[in-house]
Amino acid sequence: TAKNKAMTERLVEWDKKHYFHPTTPLKEQQAKGPAHIFTHGKGIHVTDVYGKEFLDGVSSLWNVNVGYGRQELADAAREQMMTLAYGSSFFNNSHDVVIRLSQKLASMAPGDLNVSFFTSGGSESNESAIKIVRHYWKMKGQPERKKIIALERSYHGVTMGATSATGVPEFKNMITAIAPDFLHALPHQTECELGDSSAPGYERSIRGIIEKEGPETIAGVILEPVQGVGGIQIPPEGYLQAVRQLCDEYGILMMTDEVITGFGRTGKMFGVEHWEVVPDLMSVAKGITSGYIQLGAVMMTDRLRDELADLSDNVFFHGFTYSGHPTACAVALKNIEIIENERLVDNAKQMEQELWKGLNYLQDTHKIAAKPRAIGLMGGIELLADPDNGTTFEPSTFAAPAVVEECAKRNLILRPLIFGGLNVIAIAPPLIVDKQDIETIIATLSDSIQAFEQRVM
Ligand code: PLP
Repeated sequence: TAKNKAMTERLVEWDKKHYFHPTTPLKEQQAKGPAHIFTHGKGIHVTDVYGKEFLDGVSSLWNVNVGYGRQELADAAREQMMTLAYGSSFFNNSHDVVIRLSQKLASMAPGDLNVSFFTSGGSESNESAIKIVRHYWKMKGQPERKKIIALERSYHGVTMGATSATGVPEFKNMITAIAPDFLHALPHQTECELGDSSAPGYERSIRGIIEKEGPETIAGVILEPVQGVGGIQIPPEGYLQAVRQLCDEYGILMMTDEVITGFGRTGKMFGVEHWEVVPDLMSVAKGITSGYIQLGAVMMTDRLRDELADLSDNVFFHGFTYSGHPTACAVALKNIEIIENERLVDNAKQMEQELWKGLNYLQDTHKIAAKPRAIGLMGGIELLADPDNGTTFEPSTFAAPAVVEECAKRNLILRPLIFGGLNVIAIAPPLIVDKQDIETIIATLSDSIQAFEQRVM
């Protein structure tokens, strides 16, 4: 209707005038307004202000694991707000919901990761992990152990420590200074990490860097079990175990970032379970509430907490006003109940096979589609100008964004990952998808790749 049209035009205008978007090409927003204005979500679908319905093939930001429109989650939030709207855990206070969630997470997490510190998201969780690790070494009387080794291509968030740990250069190049004492290693160099100093890239491996810098200067290593934003990079078998061994060898703390991989995304409850590795600290966020409300946590081992408690009589001076927010904790508990009751982790594992079938089909059907990868419902396909000799597309071609735009025309939302000259299309739908949904995603993506091929090839 004319009234709706006028309202929509006003929303576009206000967006351009008053809204500074996160991680957005500002010039494009100012010129064209927002790409989509969404108003509704139900199951795996979202609807925009024009009434157009899309299949959300990436769970928004890989976080809406249980899908949209869950009454139980809304009820849990409402009930908690009416019961205890806010409760801080500063100065040794606590409340029932945060205690229950801490216990629940301990029962789920691998090994002896039994203790949680709460935040409002992934960046804050990694930021907290980095500070806890440095605090630990300071308390241990080894303050020179302050360097953090992360991986190239990694994404750990946008607060200053998380930005500094991040290995995707675009997120750092935009500012003039990052935090000191962060080093970056080549990802997934299993042979080097196992100690083969003749393996290519050794000096730039985690082990090579530790040896060069001196292990007595290294506080911790941080890595994603599967790199997400960096292009869906699944480590080779044995890599995570090798890093665990390496950290043990030098007494370095291992931090894993499960912000995407946690809560079923990869077909296990947590990503490290694929390799039976238990880190010393583990960051989670996103899927912990399926995006219904802000929450993150950094989990740590009993041993680490016990040592920290023994080492100091002082206050641990780190905490957010919203650490352990009751409403967020109540939603997390209900969300985890849904994931467990509906066996969504098993579903992610089963759907991986359908995803592989589809990705292999894309590779077989389209010359430019290559290097399919998937672990659970975290998958992707790479676009290459010439897969036979590995030639990438010119950055100006914007291959993956162009294909994703074609998908949007066909009512499918996917995400291009274009950092470091890559053109990967990420597929990470809500964990409630069935075989038919995966087929729809693949068929639509296939049509979209074809439309792009016809335009540029
Ligand atoms: N770590 C990883 C692996 C992520 O993918 C993200 C976000 O995409 C973050 C950390 C940052 O989380 P947040 O955006 O909640 O701060």
